Amino acid sequence: MAILVLGGAGYIGSHAVDQLLNKGFKTIAVDHLQTGHRKAVHEKAVFYHGDIRDKPFLRSVFAKENVTGVLHFAAQSLVGESMKDPLSYFNNNVYGTQITLEVMQEFGVKHIVFSSSAAVYGEPEKVPITEDMPEKPESAYGESKLMAEKMLKWCETACGIKYVSLRYFNVAGAKTDGSIGEDHHPETHLIPILLQTALGQREEVLIFGTDYDTKDGTCIRDYVHVSDLIDAHILALEYLQNGGDSGIFNLGSSSGFSVSEMAEAARQVTERDIKVRAAARRPGDPSTLIASSDKARNILGWNPKQTDISEIIASAWNWHRQHPNGYKDK
Ligand code: UDP
Repeated sequence: MAILVLGGAGYIGSHAVDQLLNKGFKTIAVDHLQTGHRKAVHEKAVFYHGDIRDKPFLRSVFAKENVTGVLHFAAQSLVGESMKDPLSYFNNNVYGTQITLEVMQEFGVKHIVFSSSAAVYGEPEKVPITEDMPEKPESAYGESKLMAEKMLKWCETACGIKYVSLRYFNVAGAKTDGSIGEDHHPETHLIPILLQTALGQREEVLIFGTDYDTKDGTCIRDYVHVSDLIDAHILALEYLQNGGDSGIFNLGSSSGFSVSEMAEAARQVTERDIKVRAAARRPGDPSTLIASSDKARNILGWNPKQTDISEIIASAWNWHRQHPNGYKDK
């Protein structure tokens, strides 16, 4: 019995591998290492280097390992990039999920926990966002996640694969001991960019849009700690193993912080100056995304622990200070 983590060398996938192993699951990681890092994968995991869209490769993994459940993180996840190159998003995120489901069906694997996104909602009519609100993605990335969710639904009906789709809000932070964390090339996410600026690796942070209809004109997001996020995946897997119905759950902290507030919080945590400069809006960015995570709390029993924004930034700061050059330092 093993859990297969697709995208296991990425930022979120590597935390999943680590936490699954700590919980005693036999853990298999698959990654094509185009954005992930081999050094991010826990040494006790079985690792296969390959692309989930390569069906013979993925079949060979399922043929070798007794996979009982899949956590699927293997995707491209940048809103801005998806607006410039939508087809690569549909190829990676939709076709990649299709191949995964085809192979799961062939090998009779019945449980998948899917990484979805708040980007499926687009600009919400009200916050906090509940799972029954309309899906109106404003980016190709959000659309690709919604298309994959629809594929999961039709597959459940036709072939009985049960799924939990977790719609992430803004995932942030790092493992408390600073041994694994976020390392993207190029980096586009707000918290790492703030911290790289605090480290003197960047001169300033551009604030994408200061004319949004929010309290200070900058975008509001809901930040959830990566370890809490993975706790929800493990609970979702256990929920499916215990006969739970397929479902969709938001994962967020239920509080929103503006980009300017995040910059100020990062200044306080790092005790360093972080220069910011107003810039144009980033295409595809909704103004405010805040989750209601009541459904995940009530049905999965999720209880996020690292909910304080300073604590989340401090855990990321611990990683960035120990690894100013990311995994090149490991
Ligand atoms: N953001 C920003 N400057 C940056 C990076 C991000 O102003 O250099 C803003 C971005 O427009 C969004 C928020 O910070 O409103 C979070 O962006 P991020 O890319 O971290 O996550 P996303 O919301 O795209 O998942």
